[in-house]
Amino acid sequence: MSKNTISGQRQMDFVSKFNYIREAGTPSEEKAASLIREELKSFGMESHIEEFSFDTWEITKAELTITEPYHKTYQATGYQRCGSTAKEGTEADFLYVENGDDISLSHAAGKIVMVNEIVRKDLYLRLIKAGVAGFVSISGSPVDEGEDRIPRAAAIPQKVYESLNEKELIQGVGVHYLDAVEMVTEGAKKAQLTLIQEEVKRTSRNVEARIQGTDRADEILTLTAHYDSVPEGPGAYDNMAGAAIIMEVCRYLKEHQPRRTVEFVWFGAEEKGLLGSRHYVKLHQQELNQHRFNMNVDLAGQLVGGNVIGVTADPSVCAMLTYLARETGIGMTTKNQIWGSDSNTFAWKGIPAMTLNRDGFGMHTHYDTVELLSAWSLERSARLLAHIAESLSDIDSMPFPQNIPEEFKKQLDEYFGV
Ligand SMILES: [Zn+2]
Repeated sequence: MSKNTISGQRQMDFVSKFNYIREAGTPSEEKAASLIREELKSFGMESHIEEFSFDTWEITKAELTITEPYHKTYQATGYQRCGSTAKEGTEADFLYVENGDDISLSHAAGKIVMVNEIVRKDLYLRLIKAGVAGFVSISGSPVDEGEDRIPRAAAIPQKVYESLNEKELIQGVGVHYLDAVEMVTEGAKKAQLTLIQEEVKRTSRNVEARIQGTDRADEILTLTAHYDSVPEGPGAYDNMAGAAIIMEVCRYLKEHQPRRTVEFVWFGAEEKGLLGSRHYVKLHQQELNQHRFNMNVDLAGQLVGGNVIGVTADPSVCAMLTYLARETGIGMTTKNQIWGSDSNTFAWKGIPAMTLNRDGFGMHTHYDTVELLSAWSLERSARLLAHIAESLSDIDSMPFPQNIPEEFKKQLDEYFGV
Protein backbone atom coordinates (compact mmCIF):
# COMPACT_ATOMS: atom_id res chain seq x y z
CA MET A 1 0.00 0.00 0.00
CA SER A 2 1.53 3.32 -1.04
CA LYS A 3 0.18 6.80 -0.31
CA ASN A 4 -1.40 6.58 -3.76
CA THR A 5 -3.77 3.97 -2.38
CA ILE A 6 -5.21 6.39 0.16
CA SER A 7 -8.80 6.61 -0.91
CA GLY A 8 -11.25 9.48 -0.64
CA GLN A 9 -14.11 7.26 -1.79
CA ARG A 10 -13.50 4.75 1.00
CA GLN A 11 -13.67 7.63 3.47
CA MET A 12 -16.94 8.82 1.90
CA ASP A 13 -18.38 5.31 2.26
CA PHE A 14 -17.31 5.28 5.89
CA VAL A 15 -18.79 8.69 6.72
CA SER A 16 -22.05 7.71 4.97
CA LYS A 17 -22.62 5.08 7.68
CA PHE A 18 -22.88 7.89 10.25
CA ASN A 19 -25.40 10.22 8.68
CA TYR A 20 -27.33 10.62 11.94
CA ILE A 21 -27.05 12.81 15.02
CA ARG A 22 -24.54 11.46 17.58
CA GLU A 23 -24.96 13.62 20.62
CA ALA A 24 -22.65 12.53 23.44
CA GLY A 25 -24.19 10.23 26.00
CA THR A 26 -26.95 8.96 23.69
CA PRO A 27 -27.40 5.45 22.22
CA SER A 28 -26.54 6.82 18.76
CA GLU A 29 -23.11 7.93 19.94
CA GLU A 30 -22.59 4.46 21.40
CA LYS A 31 -23.66 2.88 18.11
CA ALA A 32 -21.12 5.06 16.27
CA ALA A 33 -18.36 3.85 18.60
CA SER A 34 -19.11 0.22 17.73
CA LEU A 35 -19.17 1.02 14.02
CA ILE A 36 -15.72 2.59 14.34
CA ARG A 37 -14.49 -0.58 16.05
CA GLU A 38 -16.01 -2.73 13.29
CA GLU A 39 -14.21 -0.70 10.64
CA LEU A 40 -10.90 -1.14 12.49
CA LYS A 41 -11.50 -4.86 12.80
CA SER A 42 -12.21 -5.12 9.05
CA PHE A 43 -8.53 -4.41 8.36
CA GLY A 44 -7.14 -6.32 11.29
CA MET A 45 -6.80 -3.58 13.92
CA GLU A 46 -7.57 -4.38 17.53
CA SER A 47 -9.29 -1.65 19.49
CA HIS A 48 -10.77 -0.99 22.87
CA ILE A 49 -13.25 1.35 24.51
CA GLU A 50 -12.64 3.68 27.41
CA GLU A 51 -15.89 4.77 29.01
CA PHE A 52 -16.47 7.82 31.14
CA SER A 53 -19.48 9.48 32.66
CA PHE A 54 -20.42 13.14 32.71
CA ASP A 55 -23.14 15.33 34.15
CA THR A 56 -25.43 17.20 31.87
CA TRP A 57 -28.70 19.06 32.15
CA GLU A 58 -31.98 17.98 30.71
CA ILE A 59 -34.44 20.77 30.04
CA THR A 60 -38.06 19.79 30.60
CA LYS A 61 -39.59 23.21 29.98
CA ALA A 62 -38.38 26.39 28.25
CA GLU A 63 -40.96 29.04 27.52
CA LEU A 64 -41.17 32.77 26.92
CA THR A 65 -44.51 34.58 26.95
CA ILE A 66 -44.99 38.28 26.41
CA THR A 67 -47.80 39.24 28.79
CA GLU A 68 -48.10 43.00 28.15
CA PRO A 69 -49.23 44.83 26.05
CA TYR A 70 -50.22 41.67 24.16
CA HIS A 71 -50.19 37.99 25.04
CA LYS A 72 -48.14 35.56 23.00
CA THR A 73 -45.91 32.57 23.73
CA TYR A 74 -42.82 32.28 21.52
CA GLN A 75 -40.74 29.27 20.61
CA ALA A 76 -37.81 29.20 23.03
CA THR A 77 -34.74 27.05 23.70
CA GLY A 78 -33.44 26.87 27.26
CA TYR A 79 -29.95 27.58 28.54
CA GLN A 80 -28.43 24.64 30.37
CA ARG A 81 -26.62 24.72 33.70
CA CYS A 82 -28.19 27.91 35.03
CA GLY A 83 -30.85 26.54 37.36
CA SER A 84 -34.63 26.60 37.13
CA THR A 85 -37.28 29.25 37.60
CA ALA A 86 -40.31 28.64 39.79
CA LYS A 87 -42.82 26.29 38.18
CA GLU A 88 -45.03 29.17 37.11
CA GLY A 89 -42.00 31.08 35.74
CA THR A 90 -40.56 34.50 36.45
CA GLU A 91 -42.64 37.49 35.45
CA ALA A 92 -40.96 40.87 35.07
CA ASP A 93 -40.64 43.94 32.88
CA PHE A 94 -39.07 43.23 29.50
CA LEU A 95 -36.18 45.28 28.10
CA TYR A 96 -34.13 44.93 24.91
CA VAL A 97 -30.50 45.74 25.84
CA GLU A 98 -28.89 45.11 22.43
CA ASN A 99 -25.23 44.13 22.98
CA GLY A 100 -25.51 44.36 26.76
CA ASP A 101 -23.46 47.56 26.97
CA ASP A 102 -23.12 49.41 30.28
CA ILE A 103 -25.62 52.14 29.37
CA SER A 104 -28.37 49.69 28.42
CA LEU A 105 -27.65 47.49 31.43
CA SER A 106 -27.89 50.45 33.82
CA HIS A 107 -31.70 50.23 33.39
CA ALA A 108 -31.83 46.45 33.59
CA ALA A 109 -32.12 45.59 37.28
CA GLY A 110 -35.08 43.35 38.04
CA LYS A 111 -36.01 42.99 34.37
CA ILE A 112 -35.99 40.19 31.83
CA VAL A 113 -33.52 41.47 29.26
CA MET A 114 -33.06 40.49 25.64
CA VAL A 115 -29.53 40.52 24.17
CA ASN A 116 -28.25 40.07 20.61
CA GLU A 117 -25.86 37.22 21.18
CA ILE A 118 -25.70 33.74 22.63
CA VAL A 119 -24.88 34.28 26.30
CA ARG A 120 -21.54 32.86 27.35
CA LYS A 121 -19.29 33.27 30.37
CA ASP A 122 -18.53 37.01 30.32
CA LEU A 123 -21.96 38.25 29.32
CA TYR A 124 -23.62 35.90 31.83
CA LEU A 125 -21.55 37.37 34.66
CA ARG A 126 -22.28 40.92 33.45
CA LEU A 127 -26.00 40.22 33.43
CA ILE A 128 -25.83 38.88 36.98
CA LYS A 129 -23.94 41.98 38.04
CA ALA A 130 -26.60 44.18 36.45
CA GLY A 131 -29.18 42.42 38.62
CA VAL A 132 -31.43 41.17 35.81
CA ALA A 133 -34.30 38.77 36.56
CA GLY A 134 -33.69 36.62 33.50
CA PHE A 135 -32.40 36.84 29.95
CA VAL A 136 -33.42 36.14 26.39
CA SER A 137 -30.86 35.82 23.59
CA ILE A 138 -31.35 36.12 19.84
CA SER A 139 -30.12 33.72 17.16
CA GLY A 140 -30.81 33.18 13.49
CA SER A 141 -31.36 35.63 10.66
CA PRO A 142 -34.24 37.35 8.85
CA VAL A 143 -34.09 34.90 5.92
CA ASP A 144 -34.54 31.73 8.02
CA GLU A 145 -37.45 29.38 7.54
CA GLY A 146 -38.38 25.81 8.50
CA GLU A 147 -35.89 24.12 10.79
CA ASP A 148 -33.73 27.25 10.81
CA ARG A 149 -36.43 28.98 12.83
CA ILE A 150 -35.46 26.87 15.86
CA PRO A 151 -33.66 29.24 18.24
CA ARG A 152 -30.30 28.38 19.72
CA ALA A 153 -29.04 28.53 23.26
CA ALA A 154 -25.97 27.26 25.10
CA ALA A 155 -24.83 25.81 28.39
CA ILE A 156 -23.33 28.07 31.02
CA PRO A 157 -19.73 26.81 31.59
CA GLN A 158 -19.23 24.40 34.47
CA LYS A 159 -16.66 26.63 36.17
CA VAL A 160 -19.01 29.63 36.11
CA TYR A 161 -21.84 27.51 37.43
CA GLU A 162 -19.69 26.19 40.26
CA SER A 163 -18.51 29.68 41.21
CA LEU A 164 -22.07 30.86 41.89
CA ASN A 165 -24.58 29.90 44.53
CA GLU A 166 -28.10 28.83 43.67
CA LYS A 167 -29.58 32.27 44.42
CA GLU A 168 -27.16 34.11 42.13
CA LEU A 169 -28.04 32.01 39.08
CA ILE A 170 -30.25 33.63 36.46
CA GLN A 171 -32.21 31.66 33.89
CA GLY A 172 -32.39 32.33 30.21
CA VAL A 173 -33.82 31.17 26.90
CA GLY A 174 -33.00 31.76 23.25
CA VAL A 175 -35.54 33.06 20.74
CA HIS A 176 -35.37 33.45 16.97
CA TYR A 177 -34.39 36.72 15.29
CA LEU A 178 -37.80 37.20 13.63
CA ASP A 179 -39.62 36.75 16.95
CA ALA A 180 -37.23 39.17 18.64
CA VAL A 181 -38.05 41.76 15.97
CA GLU A 182 -41.76 41.25 16.59
CA MET A 183 -41.39 41.67 20.35
CA VAL A 184 -39.58 44.99 20.07
CA THR A 185 -41.79 46.27 17.24
CA GLU A 186 -44.96 45.40 19.17
CA GLY A 187 -43.61 47.14 22.26
CA ALA A 188 -43.26 44.11 24.54
CA LYS A 189 -43.32 45.46 28.10
CA LYS A 190 -43.70 42.46 30.37
CA ALA A 191 -42.60 38.88 29.96
CA GLN A 192 -42.89 35.56 31.71
CA LEU A 193 -39.90 33.27 31.44
CA THR A 194 -40.04 29.62 32.46
CA LEU A 195 -37.07 27.29 32.51
CA ILE A 196 -37.11 23.91 34.26
CA GLN A 197 -34.11 21.57 34.10
CA GLU A 198 -32.55 18.72 36.02
CA GLU A 199 -29.06 17.28 36.26
CA VAL A 200 -28.57 13.83 34.74
CA LYS A 201 -25.61 11.46 34.35
CA ARG A 202 -24.60 10.20 30.92
CA THR A 203 -21.93 7.86 29.61
CA SER A 204 -19.66 8.53 26.65
CA ARG A 205 -16.63 6.64 25.34
CA ASN A 206 -13.35 6.91 23.46
CA VAL A 207 -12.26 4.28 20.93
CA GLU A 208 -8.53 3.52 20.92
CA ALA A 209 -6.30 1.54 18.60
CA ARG A 210 -2.53 1.35 18.79
CA ILE A 211 0.20 0.50 16.31
CA GLN A 212 3.25 -0.53 18.28
CA GLY A 213 6.47 1.09 17.07
CA THR A 214 9.70 -0.75 16.34
CA ASP A 215 12.99 0.71 17.67
CA ARG A 216 11.38 3.94 19.02
CA ALA A 217 8.34 2.25 20.51
CA ASP A 218 8.56 4.05 23.85
CA GLU A 219 7.81 7.35 22.11
CA ILE A 220 4.13 7.93 21.32
CA LEU A 221 2.42 9.97 18.62
CA THR A 222 -1.35 10.39 18.67
CA LEU A 223 -3.79 10.82 15.80
CA THR A 224 -7.14 11.94 17.15
CA ALA A 225 -10.60 13.08 16.04
CA HIS A 226 -13.95 13.37 17.78
CA TYR A 227 -16.89 11.37 16.48
CA ASP A 228 -19.74 12.87 18.51
CA SER A 229 -21.92 15.57 17.01
CA VAL A 230 -23.99 18.46 18.32
CA PRO A 231 -27.74 17.77 18.68
CA GLU A 232 -28.53 20.13 15.78
CA GLY A 233 -27.18 17.96 12.98
CA PRO A 234 -25.33 14.79 11.95
CA GLY A 235 -21.87 16.39 11.99
CA ALA A 236 -20.34 15.03 8.80
CA TYR A 237 -17.94 17.96 8.36
CA ASP A 238 -17.75 18.34 12.15
CA ASN A 239 -16.34 15.79 12.56
CA MET A 240 -17.03 12.35 11.08
CA ALA A 241 -14.79 13.52 8.22
CA GLY A 242 -11.92 13.89 10.69
CA ALA A 243 -12.74 10.47 12.09
CA ALA A 244 -12.54 9.05 8.55
CA ILE A 245 -9.22 10.76 7.82
CA ILE A 246 -7.47 9.24 10.84
CA MET A 247 -9.05 5.87 9.99
CA GLU A 248 -7.48 6.10 6.52
CA VAL A 249 -4.10 7.07 8.02
CA CYS A 250 -4.45 4.09 10.36
CA ARG A 251 -4.90 1.74 7.38
CA TYR A 252 -1.84 3.25 5.77
CA LEU A 253 0.44 3.08 8.81
CA LYS A 254 -0.62 -0.47 9.54
CA GLU A 255 1.02 -1.38 6.23
CA HIS A 256 4.08 0.82 6.95
CA GLN A 257 5.08 -0.06 10.43
CA PRO A 258 6.28 3.10 12.17
CA ARG A 259 9.36 3.30 14.38
CA ARG A 260 7.45 5.23 17.04
CA THR A 261 4.23 3.97 18.58
CA VAL A 262 1.20 5.56 16.98
CA GLU A 263 -2.04 5.70 18.92
CA PHE A 264 -5.36 6.47 17.24
CA VAL A 265 -8.14 7.84 19.39
CA TRP A 266 -11.72 8.63 18.39
CA PHE A 267 -13.01 10.91 21.12
CA GLY A 268 -16.56 11.05 22.44
CA ALA A 269 -18.18 14.15 23.98
CA GLU A 270 -15.91 16.75 22.39
CA GLU A 271 -18.92 18.96 21.81
CA LYS A 272 -19.68 18.86 25.56
CA GLY A 273 -16.36 20.54 26.36
CA LEU A 274 -13.55 18.27 25.12
CA LEU A 275 -14.65 15.63 27.65
CA GLY A 276 -13.23 12.64 25.76
CA SER A 277 -9.72 14.02 25.49
CA ARG A 278 -9.83 15.29 29.05
CA HIS A 279 -10.70 11.81 30.22
CA TYR A 280 -7.93 10.38 28.03
CA VAL A 281 -5.14 12.53 29.51
CA LYS A 282 -6.34 11.71 33.01
CA LEU A 283 -6.47 7.99 32.38
CA HIS A 284 -3.13 7.92 30.55
CA GLN A 285 -1.37 10.30 32.92
CA GLN A 286 1.47 7.85 33.63
CA GLU A 287 2.29 7.62 29.96
CA LEU A 288 2.06 11.30 28.97
CA ASN A 289 5.81 11.87 29.32
CA GLN A 290 6.25 9.47 26.38
CA HIS A 291 3.93 11.53 24.17
CA ARG A 292 5.75 13.56 21.50
CA PHE A 293 3.06 15.09 19.29
CA ASN A 294 -0.71 15.13 18.96
CA MET A 295 -2.17 15.34 15.46
CA ASN A 296 -5.86 16.10 15.77
CA VAL A 297 -8.37 16.60 12.96
CA ASP A 298 -11.51 18.67 13.47
CA LEU A 299 -13.64 20.04 10.60
CA ALA A 300 -12.69 18.46 7.30
CA GLY A 301 -13.82 17.08 4.00
CA GLN A 302 -15.74 19.82 2.23
CA LEU A 303 -14.61 20.67 -1.28
CA VAL A 304 -14.65 24.46 -1.18
CA GLY A 305 -12.26 25.41 1.58
CA GLY A 306 -8.63 25.52 2.55
CA ASN A 307 -6.49 23.50 4.93
CA VAL A 308 -5.34 25.33 8.03
CA ILE A 309 -3.21 23.66 10.65
CA GLY A 310 -3.60 25.17 14.10
CA VAL A 311 -0.30 24.63 15.90
CA THR A 312 -0.18 24.82 19.68
CA ALA A 313 3.54 24.31 20.07
CA ASP A 314 6.85 26.03 19.40
CA PRO A 315 6.65 28.26 16.27
CA SER A 316 9.25 26.08 14.55
CA VAL A 317 6.57 23.38 14.25
CA CYS A 318 4.76 25.64 11.75
CA ALA A 319 7.84 25.75 9.52
CA MET A 320 8.33 22.00 9.83
CA LEU A 321 4.71 21.24 8.89
CA THR A 322 4.91 23.64 5.95
CA TYR A 323 8.04 21.84 4.75
CA LEU A 324 6.31 18.46 5.00
CA ALA A 325 3.23 19.81 3.19
CA ARG A 326 5.49 21.13 0.40
CA GLU A 327 6.80 17.60 -0.07
CA THR A 328 3.22 16.50 -0.82
CA GLY A 329 2.29 19.52 -2.95
CA ILE A 330 -0.97 19.84 -0.95
CA GLY A 331 -1.81 23.41 0.02
CA MET A 332 -2.10 24.54 3.61
CA THR A 333 -1.32 27.41 5.94
CA THR A 334 -0.51 27.37 9.64
CA LYS A 335 -1.73 29.37 12.61
CA ASN A 336 0.40 29.34 15.73
CA GLN A 337 -2.20 29.56 18.51
CA ILE A 338 -4.39 27.59 20.89
CA TRP A 339 -7.27 25.79 19.14
CA GLY A 340 -10.78 25.05 20.37
CA SER A 341 -10.57 21.31 19.89
CA ASP A 342 -9.05 18.21 21.50
CA SER A 343 -5.50 19.27 20.59
CA ASN A 344 -5.85 21.89 23.31
CA THR A 345 -6.10 19.17 25.94
CA PHE A 346 -2.76 17.66 24.90
CA ALA A 347 -1.07 21.08 24.74
CA TRP A 348 -2.46 21.88 28.18
CA LYS A 349 -0.62 18.77 29.44
CA GLY A 350 2.61 20.01 27.84
CA ILE A 351 2.46 17.91 24.67
CA PRO A 352 3.04 19.75 21.36
CA ALA A 353 -0.20 19.54 19.40
CA MET A 354 -1.90 20.51 16.17
CA THR A 355 -5.36 20.40 14.65
CA LEU A 356 -5.78 19.88 10.93
CA ASN A 357 -8.79 21.98 10.02
CA ARG A 358 -10.59 22.90 6.82
CA ASP A 359 -12.97 25.81 6.49
CA GLY A 360 -16.42 24.96 5.26
CA PHE A 361 -20.14 25.46 5.58
CA GLY A 362 -22.79 24.60 8.12
CA MET A 363 -20.95 23.61 11.30
CA HIS A 364 -23.37 22.86 14.18
CA THR A 365 -26.44 23.01 11.93
CA HIS A 366 -28.75 20.50 10.25
CA TYR A 367 -26.96 21.30 6.99
CA ASP A 368 -23.85 19.45 8.17
CA THR A 369 -24.49 16.22 6.26
CA VAL A 370 -22.38 13.84 4.19
CA GLU A 371 -23.88 15.32 0.99
CA LEU A 372 -21.59 18.32 1.41
CA LEU A 373 -18.42 16.23 1.74
CA SER A 374 -16.03 15.47 -1.08
CA ALA A 375 -13.90 12.41 -1.79
CA TRP A 376 -11.37 14.71 -3.45
CA SER A 377 -10.90 16.77 -0.30
CA LEU A 378 -10.86 13.77 2.06
CA GLU A 379 -8.23 12.04 0.00
CA ARG A 380 -5.93 15.06 -0.02
CA SER A 381 -6.28 15.70 3.71
CA ALA A 382 -5.58 12.04 4.50
CA ARG A 383 -2.50 12.07 2.24
CA LEU A 384 -1.20 15.21 3.89
CA LEU A 385 -1.77 13.84 7.38
CA ALA A 386 -0.33 10.43 6.51
CA HIS A 387 2.82 12.12 5.27
CA ILE A 388 3.19 14.22 8.41
CA ALA A 389 2.51 11.23 10.68
CA GLU A 390 4.81 8.87 8.80
CA SER A 391 7.66 11.39 8.65
CA LEU A 392 7.46 12.08 12.37
CA SER A 393 7.11 8.44 13.31
CA ASP A 394 10.25 7.50 11.40
CA ILE A 395 12.63 10.44 11.91
CA ASP A 396 15.67 9.78 14.16
CA SER A 397 14.85 12.48 16.70
CA MET A 398 11.84 14.74 17.02
CA PRO A 399 12.63 17.90 15.02
CA PHE A 400 11.13 20.47 17.44
CA PRO A 401 11.24 21.40 21.14
CA GLN A 402 9.09 19.24 23.38
CA ASN A 403 7.40 22.09 25.18
CA ILE A 404 4.59 24.63 24.94
CA PRO A 405 5.35 28.38 24.72
CA GLU A 406 4.59 30.29 27.93
CA GLU A 407 1.88 32.52 26.41
CA PHE A 408 -0.06 29.43 25.24
CA LYS A 409 0.28 27.84 28.68
CA LYS A 410 -1.43 30.88 30.20
CA GLN A 411 -4.16 30.89 27.56
CA LEU A 412 -4.74 27.17 28.03
CA ASP A 413 -5.04 27.51 31.81
CA GLU A 414 -7.66 30.15 31.20
CA TYR A 415 -9.39 28.04 28.52
CA PHE A 416 -9.67 25.10 30.90
CA GLY A 417 -10.65 27.39 33.74
CA VAL A 418 -7.69 26.66 36.02
ZN1 LIG B 1 -15.66 19.53 15.99
